[in-house]
Amino acid sequence: MTAVTPTLGERELALRDRARAVIPGGMYGHMNVAAFSTAHPQFMVSGDGCRVTDADGRDYLDLMCGWGPVVLGHRHPGVTAAVVEQLGRGDCLDGTSPVAVDFAELLVDTIPSADWAMFCKNGSDATTTCVTTARAATGKRKILVANGAYHGAVPWCSLRGAGVTDEDQAHLVHYEYNDLASAEAAAAEAGDDLAAILVCPMRHDIKRDQELADPAFARGLRALADRTGAVLILDDVRCGFRLDLGGSWEPLGVRPDLTAWSKAIANGQALGAVTGIDGLRDATRSIYVTGSFWYAAVPLAAGFATLTELRKGTALPDMARTGARLRDGLARQAVAHGFEIRQTGPVQMPMLSFAGDEDFRLVTAWAEAAVERGVYLHPWHNWFLSAAHTDADIDDVLTRTDEAFAAVR
Ligand SMILES: *Cc1c(COP(=O)(O)O)cnc(C)c1O
Repeated sequence: MTAVTPTLGERELALRDRARAVIPGGMYGHMNVAAFSTAHPQFMVSGDGCRVTDADGRDYLDLMCGWGPVVLGHRHPGVTAAVVEQLGRGDCLDGTSPVAVDFAELLVDTIPSADWAMFCKNGSDATTTCVTTARAATGKRKILVANGAYHGAVPWCSLRGAGVTDEDQAHLVHYEYNDLASAEAAAAEAGDDLAAILVCPMRHDIKRDQELADPAFARGLRALADRTGAVLILDDVRCGFRLDLGGSWEPLGVRPDLTAWSKAIANGQALGAVTGIDGLRDATRSIYVTGSFWYAAVPLAAGFATLTELRKGTALPDMARTGARLRDGLARQAVAHGFEIRQTGPVQMPMLSFAGDEDFRLVTAWAEAAVERGVYLHPWHNWFLSAAHTDADIDDVLTRTDEAFAAVR
């Protein structure tokens, strides 16, 4: 039996006390653990492969992977070597590092819908740049977005109301994911002011079972964009580089005009990217987007090393295999313990919910029981696997989740 960690550690509690005094709310955004758990540690001090360590030295098998960025495992040797080497030469210089060209070439070579690439710092930068480009290209204002879809933590697309004005989102027109008729109605509402259709490769909203894109819906959005002259923007920030290196809609045969990338692009270094088609080169050149850190060489070197490693071809199939192993194991355990669960989305980005658990109490208790047994996962946000997870690691996870099911029975 794995030892159960009964309470949060002393260092954790001391850090929380200090943080409450100097950081609003003790922490903010998605990493404010108080928003989803009483058992998860707020603070982590290190990571290695598929394991992370909290401030009290407790180890966890990591099923969140830094909430997406870590696709090859924490401190992947090849990426770390590239980071250290570039750090030795400098990071923020007065001109762009040549590695930006190397990495843009690699992205264009890897992604069929990419004729060019540009870099930024995060996913919000990337989606915002796509929207700005689409408006510059079309001279129009309206952006179609799916109800509940997350495209970043900036006012034009924020899902929370505080501090956001109606005017910030005045030109968004909403449709329902996987409902082509609703997207067509939204396009009709936008009329001749339609600039872009923004869509994620699948529905991965929080507190909701994940939903894969219906291929007919994806093809229908492509046709709708072609018919109306709107730019089709794929927000591949979360799924990108985990499901298909060419872009997450490549298996559906649907190619976007612009794609927003971030999270896994540099295995944890701060980087985002936009890729696009030739027809949008001039529009992208016309907008002014930049940032103090957008040209930093270390993350670009990390991105180049990450994609080079991913292109060797084993990481994605490995995640598909270990993800399937995890899903099968959890399904068997749920049955054995008498629970009805749903596991949704691609196996590399797992999501688990309990039938009838409308207020998320059961899944929260289960996630807390898992974290107390050394498996770091989330009650109602999708998880992420990395190429560092082995079959043996998954079996180790499953030993502990089995105990978590028993604990909440
Ligand atoms: C995380 C995410 C973003 C925002 O990326 P940041 O790096 O947090 O700014 C945008 N879109 C999707 C789909 C995301 O998952």
